[in-house]
Amino acid sequence: MRRLFIDGTLTEYMIIEGDDARHLLYAMRVKPGQRIVVADKKGIIAETEIIKCETQRVFLHLLHKLSDQKNESDIEIVLVQCLPKGDKMDYIVQKAAELGVNKIIPVMSCNCVVRYDLEKREKRQQKWQKIAEEASKQCGRGSVPQIAAITDLSTCLDMAEGYNACICYENEKHMSLNQYLKNHDGMNYMLFIGPEGGFTLDEAARCKIRGINSISLGNRILRTETAALAAVTIVQYEKGDLGNQAQQK
Ligand code: SAM
Repeated sequence: MRRLFIDGTLTEYMIIEGDDARHLLYAMRVKPGQRIVVADKKGIIAETEIIKCETQRVFLHLLHKLSDQKNESDIEIVLVQCLPKGDKMDYIVQKAAELGVNKIIPVMSCNCVVRYDLEKREKRQQKWQKIAEEASKQCGRGSVPQIAAITDLSTCLDMAEGYNACICYENEKHMSLNQYLKNHDGMNYMLFIGPEGGFTLDEAARCKIRGINSISLGNRILRTETAALAAVTIVQYEKGDLGNQAQQK
């Protein structure tokens, strides 16, 4: 879930104004009823519900404080995963949850072999959400990654606004993820991973046009599940909490 850091302190009802409001309204395109996590300067974190949106203000209602956030990374990672064959997605969801991913968006891209009807899409989303909950419980996370409904690549390109967004592209020969992360700071990252058949040239070009950076994970061609977890691990290690000294238990 997206996380907003506020200067003030958390109260039952909050009015977000200024840049934060504009980011919520025009980059994240939030709507009443949606939920976002809000963290204040003292490190108190809470889940809130958007109750009203005006052109320059967003009204929030605090639902509940989120305890035990010591097991949550400070950064947000969204994994945009093109649907792989078989039950590989179960594995990717489980491992991404352990690695601290906040949201997984399953994508039906051109080269995806699997094709799900509406009923199967809903069933798969519920199954993956359950896997994410179990994995989060097992590793002691403070929150559970949200598994979005299966969508298309264009929708994800719109969602990438406001993120440090990268397409892991097997044909990228210049920019490594490591170099990209050295040149980019921030708290919100979005990683695009192709299916077994990879991204089409047109998909890669559309990502580039939208400012989504093409990055390489090295010269070897990784399986989609390997690439997803390698990319998440690198971002979490370089920018998040993987590899920090052990937290006080
Ligand atoms: N069809 C591609 C080919 O044969 O060249 C392979 C696609 S690979 C199995 C699946 C996905 O993993 C790719 O679309 C990409 O997102 C990611 N990937 C694999 N190896 C990569 C690399 N060396 N650099 C960047 N991304 C990679």
